Amino acid sequence: MSVISIKEAQELMKKLYLERDKERGQERTFLKLVEEVGELAESLLLQDKEKISEEIADILAWTLSIANLLEIDAIKEFQEKYNEICPGCSESPCSCDSV
Ligand SMILES: [Zn+2]
Repeated sequence: MSVISIKEAQELMKKLYLERDKERGQERTFLKLVEEVGELAESLLLQDKEKISEEIADILAWTLSIANLLEIDAIKEFQEKYNEICPGCSESPCSCDSV
């Protein structure tokens, strides 16, 4: 298995799921993401590393589905916001007051 970029991952999600994501719509696709965040919470409580890893993959997948529905280039937005420095304090590493 070769490593793919976030851009390629978003393209993959588009190819696999865009039609279904459109049928489901933004609101219900967002609820799927929230469901997976809930499952991540449970697996963190159990400290089940395998399950935690799966939920992280699912959260990324659903996040990219939402980006696809809205025609947002996720990695482009990420790079613009997190451009070498913390967007909160403009430092690297971050020195914001709250952890
Ligand atoms: Zn900061």
